[in-house]
Amino acid sequence: MQNKQHFRPTKAIIDLQAIRKNICQLKEHLQPNVQIIAVVKANAYGHGDVEVARVAIESGATMLAVATPEEALHLRKHFPNIEILILGYSPVSFATYAADENITLTVYSKAWVEQLNTQTLSKPLKLHIKVDTGMGRIGVTSIEDFLDLHKTISSSSNLIVDGVFTHFATADEEVEDYFNKQAQTFKQYISLIPKPRLVHAANTATMLIKDSNLQFDAVRFGISLYGLAPSTYVKNKLPFPLHRAFSLETELIEVKQIQVGQSVGYGATYTATKPSYIGTLPIGYADGLIRQHSGQDVLIDGIRVPIIGRICMDQCMILLPTAYNIGEKVTLIGKQKNEEITMDEWALKVNTINYEIPCIITSRVPRIYHTK
Ligand SMILES: *Cc1c(COP(=O)(O)O)cnc(C)c1O
Repeated sequence: MQNKQHFRPTKAIIDLQAIRKNICQLKEHLQPNVQIIAVVKANAYGHGDVEVARVAIESGATMLAVATPEEALHLRKHFPNIEILILGYSPVSFATYAADENITLTVYSKAWVEQLNTQTLSKPLKLHIKVDTGMGRIGVTSIEDFLDLHKTISSSSNLIVDGVFTHFATADEEVEDYFNKQAQTFKQYISLIPKPRLVHAANTATMLIKDSNLQFDAVRFGISLYGLAPSTYVKNKLPFPLHRAFSLETELIEVKQIQVGQSVGYGATYTATKPSYIGTLPIGYADGLIRQHSGQDVLIDGIRVPIIGRICMDQCMILLPTAYNIGEKVTLIGKQKNEEITMDEWALKVNTINYEIPCIITSRVPRIYHTK
């Protein structure tokens, strides 16, 4: 990506130094010998999987976690030796590839294991058993199934129970009843089997604000790797400051003055009530600036100005206080002078969570890496 030539000025700037700092601070808050699993699924939450993974590994992460077989294979090409865990579903047909490529799979069904012809595996296949303690998605939900699955895997010559894990549904909230129940359930499950190499349960929120005993052997560090807090509640309780890694920038490509009564954009939904300068930006909903962002501020020359009218597929218009020059830098997410527009602000505007924002900035927006 980095060396590819970009002509359109719209780009996401990824500050790898920020990611490095986030991991270093995290390390100081871990119990001794707790490993860091860097969660780099979905192209590292839209930040770029290979680049983020490289920084994470350099900073001490000992495993990468992804969601799909495709994501795992992509990372394996770039990192031949690091452990890679697929947190989500893998079809049985992927097992031979996983064994070949030393990719660890999540398993939660005895039927899945029984469908697997372990004779065809070139090498032992490492598995992590997923326990559903209250999330209600993948995972075993009874002790009987858990023990049965554990026994089935342990007695297969080519399969290894490398880990057991669970995932919390409410780790980022203040009320702890549900969370504590999940934690208790998980502890009960793992007490029933010989300890596998890696027991893990903590996502970012658990690691940052819950009992450090729940760090077990490893933490799965996702959203805060990128400098974002998992929720407002966690944001207000952060044990260390996070450094935001993602900025979204473009440039003014057109500036014009419109008169009273003239309108802007599809549907002519914005009409000038006084003579106004209108700027055009080369970014639209095909880049992930969805139409609900209309009205959102952007930064130019360190001041906030709003997106007006409907956002088009590839462009949008902003209201300017004065006739800025073509080529003037515009920041959609990030800092200019003393102003900042955060992912959190974007998320609030379109009624979602910050996780979703970088994920939906599409691949048309090049990711440019700053290593400083
Ligand atoms: C995505 C994911 C994580 C990371 O969660 P964050 O809140 O981003 O830290 C951890 N565990 C599982 C199972 C996940 O799917």
